[in-house]
Amino acid sequence: MVVKNVNGTFRLVCGCGDWLRHWQRFGRPSADFARERICAVALCRNPIEVGAHVQKEVLEGMSILGMVGDASWYVLPLCASCSRRRGEALIVADDCGLAPANIDQTCGRARGEDSSSRSA
Ligand SMILES: [Zn+2]
Ligand SMILES: [Zn+2]
Repeated sequence: MVVKNVNGTFRLVCGCGDWLRHWQRFGRPSADFARERICAVALCRNPIEVGAHVQKEVLEGMSILGMVGDASWYVLPLCASCSRRRGEALIVADDCGLAPANIDQTCGRARGEDSSSRSA
């Protein structure tokens, strides 16, 4: 999965206290990813240090799948050095479990488990 690093342009702090905690609450990583606790960027083996904001990069061809203009913001776990690669496209693990950055959909409104749209 390719995402664009928009970290640092989003100043709001959510109710979780910080964005890494937000991802830990609302992300849906695979069991392997959760156990390893390494940066979501492919080939990076640094430990997770921060929750960073990204947008899904829409690649040519993906528009067929209806992925045009997904301007939604997501949070994923990165190491400090990857989080500083601001504005870059990052190839990240598909199973890193992007958390929606929209607090209305997560900690701001739903608070805790909202199982209506997901089945783990
Ligand atoms: Zn939160
Ligand atoms: Zn990294």
